[in-house]
Order: sequence, then structure tokens, then C-alpha cells
Amino acid sequence: MKKSFQLSRRTFIEHSYRYSVAAFSVYSFSSLTSCQSKQEKEEKSEQNVSEQQASKKLGIALVGLGNYSKGQLAPALQETQHCYLSGIVTGSPDKADEWKTKYNIPEKNIYNYENFDQIKDNPDIDIIYVVLPNAMHKEFVVRAAKAGKHVICEKPMAVTVQECDEMIAACKEAGKMLSIGYRLRFEPYNREMTRFGTEKVFGNIKKVIAENGMSDTEGWRLNKALAGGGSLMDVGIYAIQGVRYTTGMEPIAVTAKEGPKKDKDRFKDIEDSLSWTMEMPGGIIAECKTAYTNEMNKLRLEGENGWAELSPAYPYKGIKGETSNGKMDFPEVNQQALQMDAFAQAIKENKPSTVPGEMGKQDVKIIQAIYEAMRTGKKVTIS
Ligand code: NAD
Repeated sequence: MKKSFQLSRRTFIEHSYRYSVAAFSVYSFSSLTSCQSKQEKEEKSEQNVSEQQASKKLGIALVGLGNYSKGQLAPALQETQHCYLSGIVTGSPDKADEWKTKYNIPEKNIYNYENFDQIKDNPDIDIIYVVLPNAMHKEFVVRAAKAGKHVICEKPMAVTVQECDEMIAACKEAGKMLSIGYRLRFEPYNREMTRFGTEKVFGNIKKVIAENGMSDTEGWRLNKALAGGGSLMDVGIYAIQGVRYTTGMEPIAVTAKEGPKKDKDRFKDIEDSLSWTMEMPGGIIAECKTAYTNEMNKLRLEGENGWAELSPAYPYKGIKGETSNGKMDFPEVNQQALQMDAFAQAIKENKPSTVPGEMGKQDVKIIQAIYEAMRTGKKVTIS
């Protein structure tokens, strides 16, 4: 072995000491700078909150950072005028870090599902938006109300009518407002369908056709305990809403037939596809369809003197419409931004939400009637 590679014990200790001092210095320098940058980030996030509050925006905390929160709600909250993203509730520390940096969220506004109730002491959060699997909506809406916050709950509002009643009661008791994530109630093409139907632009309505299906379902949506049902709960609900806002009426009775299951294992607990008919007042018939293995996207009104059709009718972007008088032409809007702003404005002005819990409950009631009709093969009346 060459001498230069031979270290005496003393030289080794000296080298090690120098190395460790150097390493310690590098470590302490980097940890100091990372502490500083952490502190700087925290200060920047807190400044962000102060600025938003100064412009009188209400703070929203999203509960559940899955696809809808990540892909739609958080980006929409960068465009809103009356509310902003002030907090998050997540079970995943990795997501918390990512979101904290991306959206300037202070550490004190980040919660998990266990310490969620402490949100009651946080004045930065005015509204809690529940974006979890359907069967978890009730628990988190009730906890949010008990924490003294206004609430937005994603569709479907819950998996049973009784759960909806409990959610409405909890918000009422807390003196807080509850609304449902019905973004299409703020979308111009769908709003025009409401005008066509309720103002009888094409004469009395004879029939409505509403279909919504998709073909790439996975995860909790296939688990009845978390989803509460199949395609009807998740996407068929848009067809129910479509009929309700196009006619301005409520169904009197329903009949329903489950379609054949393309994959018996995946759909062992839930329906893949379903077609149902809703009898509306005045002899109007609504023919509806939904599926988890078939793309469908339509809302059509047939009146005495003409027709109107949206196809596709329910996506976030790219809605198209035509009538017997020609093409419809509206600007594309950010549906989620309009929906959240409308709720924040309603809170500020102490006016009722245009998409309240009662509207969500009525859809769950109709869904349960459709499931009963599907199971029994009989017509089910809705009281
Ligand atoms: P997703 O699977 O992408 O996200 C679900 C989130 O819940 C994830 O962050 C997940 O970690 C969390 N979670 C907590 N506990 C869970 C559990 N036990 N199992 C599974 N996930 C759990 O779902 P998503 O598409 O974001 O849907 C969430 C809600 O939003 C649903 O109620 C859905 O109907 C609704 N949604 C509404 C629209 C709309 O246009 N209004 C669009 C998509 C979804």
C-alpha cells in the first residue's frame, strides 16, 4: 500500500474531525437555509392569506385531494372572485407538501381526517368543501357544520335520504349554509335548456331524453359500500338533474330496468347500466339512461313546436347545443368557479344557495325510487 494512502490514527482523527466539521458546517448551512426558506415560504403563504382576506374573499378548505379537487376545484379557485383556497384536509402527507407549495397554503391551514374538527378554531376557513367518496359525505358535512363552517358537498349528496336529512339538520342547527356541487346549474347551455323548458319556448314539453354514461370507471366507484350504488349514483344523477332543470318539475313516478353486466366481477355489487323512465306532471315523459361501460352524453327537449339538444351536455368543457331553430352559441365558462363564487356571494349577502342541500336530497330520493323500481320491476311513485 502506498504511504500517501496510509493514515495514522492521529491523522485519521484529524481528517475525520476536519471532515466532520466541514460536513457539519455544510449540514448546518443547508439546514439553516432550508429553515430560512421554509420560514420564507410560510411567510409568503400567510401573506397570501392576508391579501385574499383583505379583498373580502371567503376561505375554502377542500376535504379530499383526489382527481376532482386536483384537476378542477383547486384550479378554479385561482379564478374565483369571492372565495379562495385557504386550506386542505388530506390523509396523505405527500399531497399536503405538494399542495402547500403549489397553492401557498400555510401549515396552520392543513388538516388530516383525524384532527379535522380543530378547524373550528381557524378563522381563515369559512367554507368546507367535501370532495370524498359518496359514503363519506355525511360524516364530513356533519363534522364541518359542528365546526361552525358553511359547507359545499359533492354530488351525490349522500347514499340515503336519511343521511341527507341528518346533513341538512346539522347545518341548520349550526346556523350554516349547505350547498351541493351542481356546477351545471351555472353553465350557460344548460341554463338555456331551463329557459327553453320553463318558458315553453318550443311549446308544451312532450318528452325529455337524458343520457350520461362513461367507460373508464375504477377504484371506490366500483365498491358499493363507498359509492352507494353504480353508474346511476355517479353519472346518471346528471340525467336526473337535467330533467329537473329542463322541465322545472319533479317526477311523480319511475320505472327502471337494469342492463346486462358486461363484466360480472367488476359489477358484482353495483349496476353497470340502467335505463329508466320518469313520469312528470302534465303527461311529460323523461327517458333516461346511464352506464359505466358506455359513453353517452345528451340532454334533449322535445316540445309541441320544436326541439333543443345538448350533446355533449355535461362535461367541464366543450358543451354543444342545437335547436330546431339553429345552433346555440355561448361562451365557455369555468363552471366550478361560478358555482363556488355564487355560494360565497350567497353567504356574504345572506341569501339562500341556488343549489341547496334540499336539491341534493331530492336527487337521492329519486335515485332510491329508481333502484326500488329496478329491483322490483314495478312502477314506484315518488311522494
Ligand atoms: P377520487 O378517487 O379521485 O378522490 C377521492 C379522494 O378521497 C382521494 O383524495 C382519496 O385519497 C380520498 N379518500 C379518503 N378516504 C378514502 C377511502 N376510504 N377510499 C377512497 N378514497 C378515499 O374521486 P373524485 O373523482 O375526486 O370524486 C370525489 C367526489 O367528487 C365524489 O363524490 C364524486 O361524485 C364527486 N365528483 C364530482 C364531480 C362534478 O363534476 N361535480 C366530478 C368528479 C367527482
